[in-house]
Amino acid sequence: MLGHGENKASAKVGREGLQVDVRALLPESFGAAMQYFTGSKDHNVAIRLRAVKMGLKLSEYGLFRVADDVRIAGETEEGIYRALGLPWIPPELRENTGEIEAAEQGRLPELVELRHIRGDLHMHTTETDGRATLEEMAEAARELGYQYVAITDHSKALSMTNGLDEKRVVGFARRVREINRIGLGIRVFSGIECDILKDGTMDLANDALAELDLVIGSVHSHMNQESAEMTDRLLRALECPHLRIVGHPTGRILLHRDPFPFDFDRVVAEAVRRGVSLEINASPERLDLHGTLIRTAKAKGARFTISTDAHHPKQLASMRYGVVTARRGWLGPDDILNTLGADEFAQAIHSKS
Ligand SMILES: [Zn+2]
Ligand SMILES: [Zn+2]
Repeated sequence: MLGHGENKASAKVGREGLQVDVRALLPESFGAAMQYFTGSKDHNVAIRLRAVKMGLKLSEYGLFRVADDVRIAGETEEGIYRALGLPWIPPELRENTGEIEAAEQGRLPELVELRHIRGDLHMHTTETDGRATLEEMAEAARELGYQYVAITDHSKALSMTNGLDEKRVVGFARRVREINRIGLGIRVFSGIECDILKDGTMDLANDALAELDLVIGSVHSHMNQESAEMTDRLLRALECPHLRIVGHPTGRILLHRDPFPFDFDRVVAEAVRRGVSLEINASPERLDLHGTLIRTAKAKGARFTISTDAHHPKQLASMRYGVVTARRGWLGPDDILNTLGADEFAQAIHSKS
């Protein structure tokens, strides 16, 4: 317990010492308090300034007329924004980076929602470092209501995970074709998370990659390269004709490893030119790409996938963190490849567009 009073308390919880604040408020202030504590600070400063210009005062208790101190909104967030001449702004956009202007002009984006996602495109099985079989992962995905999954185990460079070599890739692709013939109640795409080697070549030969439905390319080693070297490495990887997705593009692990440096704009421009999508890795340890970079990439015409990188059936539920991350990058369903139905998706990855 850090402190408490008549209507508030603060505590640190859990191993990470996350601070939790509890506030008790009257219903008439609920929306105001929600808006106030959701932030961000930059957004709230701009919103309060807007209120002042309108002869109003916004606090956690409500929106008041300065002249006579009468509360004109506060019960709901929608009511507060409405009284300020704005539509409700989704919390993920509240950063004062253009969302207030967009709201004013009626051009807030339609944001992606969890229900738009039709399949999960990045997961591991007991073939490498996953904890469940292909069948178990597919069944868990089917229970989540997906139309399809891509199974994307590691490639041979990650030898400690027993990564697949060319021979196993070919056998795996054949096995998935057989599985789909029998049918698991969900379409399975054969994939790989192929290591992008130090020099930018792919860990597996092209004729093996050609057997698969979906190739993700990821950097898992030599992450301490200089920016120029890493840029060349990624540009070279993009030359691989079978590559469809760049996995966890910046390599960051939250609280553990910073993003590796590279020329983001150049790599994105090349990915766009070659029809390669960028992954939004939904694992709570990664959230990679993240909001700001997603927005930058979208402005350059990039397309995205949202995937969990699950190593266990339970981790498929992390999709919601990926969706929230995509929303922070202003993405709508049309920006994301795995909002397509199974047939359209199959076509899209086949033709690389
Ligand atoms: Zn990976
Ligand atoms: Zn992975």
